[in-house]
Amino acid sequence: MSRLFTYQGSAAHIVFGEGTSRKAGEWVEKLGCKRALVLSTPHQKHDAEALAEKLGRLAAGTFTGAVMHTPVDVTDTAMRVVTDLGADCVVSLGGGSTTGLGKAIAYRTDLPQIVIPTTYAGSEVTPILGQTEGGRKTTVKDPKILPEVVIYDATLTTGLPVGMSVTSGLNAMAHAVEALYAQDRNPISSLMATEGLRAFRSALPAIIKDPHDLSVRADGLYGAWLCGTVLGTVGMALHHKICHTLGGTFDTPHADTHAIMLPHTAGFNAVAVPELLSPVADIFGGSVGGGLWDFAQSIGAPLALRDLGLTEADLDRAAKIATENPYWNPRPIDRPSIRELLQHAWEGTRPAT
Ligand code: NAD
Repeated sequence: MSRLFTYQGSAAHIVFGEGTSRKAGEWVEKLGCKRALVLSTPHQKHDAEALAEKLGRLAAGTFTGAVMHTPVDVTDTAMRVVTDLGADCVVSLGGGSTTGLGKAIAYRTDLPQIVIPTTYAGSEVTPILGQTEGGRKTTVKDPKILPEVVIYDATLTTGLPVGMSVTSGLNAMAHAVEALYAQDRNPISSLMATEGLRAFRSALPAIIKDPHDLSVRADGLYGAWLCGTVLGTVGMALHHKICHTLGGTFDTPHADTHAIMLPHTAGFNAVAVPELLSPVADIFGGSVGGGLWDFAQSIGAPLALRDLGLTEADLDRAAKIATENPYWNPRPIDRPSIRELLQHAWEGTRPAT
């Protein structure tokens, strides 16, 4: 096995444990800040206001208008609030949408960020920001975007509906699967990816059984941290390219798209790099794609792109876009093979490889 690699640890400070969000104020002070702006989506407004109340004099106020895909006009509105309130840091409470808004503010101001994640998307540990303007999504990577502190507190995640827990977990698993064959992988990223997959293998069925069990919710967050960290460390390939194409062009829901595509893209690449994906087959059983599909089916995940409103005719366009400016991939791709892969994902059939 080749031992040629480079490695750099993340600068983010990770705080993990039940009840740790109560210490958010201590982290505001440790960062040298006095006026935190608490961010959330409209759906989590109540939690954001409760957090601001707990922060007391350290809270400058709240902005509860975060939405999916970080539209620039929403960021502009939030930026005015940052200025008006004289905020000197942001505390993002929520999933990838809220984290995205905090990152967009930090990208423009270099204000420090504390993130309290409540889904498994993993954005909180990456220096990557996706923003949308005029219907186009662009991605930037910058050290300013990486949040300084992440507080993983399972007590805030028991309200995440079971269906969203499942798709969010599969979204995180997709980061780990692609990290296993990334060109710039290193021994730590591969260890974290494998451990992240193991964490979700046990956590997701247990969350379905009892969404209020704090220890299994903590296992889910543990998997989110591991899978998110590898997303922030190594390059992604075909799977992420296809999901960005489908989300960006056809507006399919982010986590559902990842959940449906993962068995198909992993099975496709398993043909080229079976040894690198062997941890996936070991953890989920059977073939790489087949094992992931069986797991997804067993936890009630969506399995077919057609259920997301995509038409069969859309697949031609999706295959064309996904193969233009492709990301590096371990198996060479061309338009007919990706069109075929999309057909299987659209129908929801079980991959053989
Ligand atoms: P989300 O943040 O959009 O959350 C979906 C909905 O669930 C929201 O209404 C939210 O308020 C609600 N919610 C979240 N946690 C909850 C909880 N515990 N209880 C009840 N409701 C809860 O969904 P997401 O999948 O976490 O994030 C998707 C976004 O994140 C996309 O825009 C995606 O592009 C981005 N993302 C970015 C990165 C990155 O590294 N830049 C990584 C992953 C995802």
